[in-house]
Amino acid sequence: MTISLKNVSDIDVTCANCQACCCRMEVMIISDTGVPDKHISVDEWGGETMLRLDDGWCSAVDRDTFLCTIYENRPWICREFEMGSDECRDVFNVVE
Ligand code: SF4
Ligand code: SF4
Repeated sequence: MTISLKNVSDIDVTCANCQACCCRMEVMIISDTGVPDKHISVDEWGGETMLRLDDGWCSAVDRDTFLCTIYENRPWICREFEMGSDECRDVFNVVE
């Protein structure tokens, strides 16, 4: 089996050509920014993360536009995640 890897180093990495790839990562909620309860998953130790649905994306992603539906209340980690950063490039996928 061959696994093809994408080299994104020379691709213009922007949210405009990415289907919210970073919104498929685990997002811990470490401060109260007003995330609605329906989007929060609580583990057995009381830790809170953004709920992810069966398709892998955060439940707050609009499935048509891939925009955040709770932008004003998104977690601190989402606010700090930087487009074009190493973390972004690690998860980036170009829309086919
Ligand atoms: S992974 Fe990067 S390019 Fe894609 S939506 Fe997130 S910040 Fe934007
Ligand atoms: S809260 Fe918004 S920005 Fe953060 S992972 Fe969910 S959809 Fe993405």
